[in-house]
Amino acid sequence: MAKSSTTSASAELIGLVERQVALGPRVPGSAAHDRLADELAARLDGAGAEVHVQPFEARFHGRTVSCRNVVGVFHCGTPAAPMLLLGTHYDTRPIADREPDPRLRGVPIPGANDGGSGTAVFLHLLDWLRGEAGGLGRDVAVAFVDAEDLGDIDGNPFSLGAERLAANPPVGVGRPDEVLVLDMVGGRDLVLDIDAHVFRHAPSRELTASLFRLGASLDLAPFAREKPERVKYIISDQWPFLRRGVPACLLIDLDYPEWHTQADLPAAMSGDSLAAIEAALKPWLSRPRAKGHRSSPGS
Ligand SMILES: [Zn+2]
Repeated sequence: MAKSSTTSASAELIGLVERQVALGPRVPGSAAHDRLADELAARLDGAGAEVHVQPFEARFHGRTVSCRNVVGVFHCGTPAAPMLLLGTHYDTRPIADREPDPRLRGVPIPGANDGGSGTAVFLHLLDWLRGEAGGLGRDVAVAFVDAEDLGDIDGNPFSLGAERLAANPPVGVGRPDEVLVLDMVGGRDLVLDIDAHVFRHAPSRELTASLFRLGASLDLAPFAREKPERVKYIISDQWPFLRRGVPACLLIDLDYPEWHTQADLPAAMSGDSLAAIEAALKPWLSRPRAKGHRSSPGS
């Protein structure tokens, strides 16, 4: 039974990626991007979350475009319990700077893994969160973050949306006390990297260790397997939080050969990788925790 439910989760998760890819590249300013943002807000609302949209603008390729972070808060804790933010970017990169064929480097990537994978995992988790939220004992925010992947294009940094969310969280969301970010978690033969930034911030190191320990104890390959040079300094949507002192953990595998190429398609991915991430997240979210306290406003 456990096996068959994992198999169906794998198929459902890849289906959620395919659905996003079928919209077309979700480049900020495009119709596909705006349509997905609308769908994410509707899915959060349908799962019983309180939805907050944080609009902002970005500029690239000579255009100013509308962006938005879409955040759903599941109120399931006492006000004093630390709030956890689960974040992932849903936008996709407007160029393919690692594409081997130079003629295709100016074409937006399909963004199956890079943009589609974390979004699929959190979409799939929504129904579970709706059912389990009361038992988690704390507020959990699911943040579909925009404009991660405009980095190094026309002078933009990476993670514009996460920077906005960390610097100026919407009223009703507030400053998270812990952050977990997913990015490119659906590659074949996924082995997760470890963000070296956490070794300079003990609470982030402990948060990261708790998830990797649990994943390895369940013998889930992305956590349990080793690879050379697994520890890397990585800038993704965890960084705006971590650099402000918020304990933050990033799950990512940068050793994805199709990264920022036209081959970032569902065919390069594995539903089992996505399912393994989800299989670690559920018990990690449910784990008993030492009593913590919600940070006070302005701290
Ligand atoms: Zn990217």
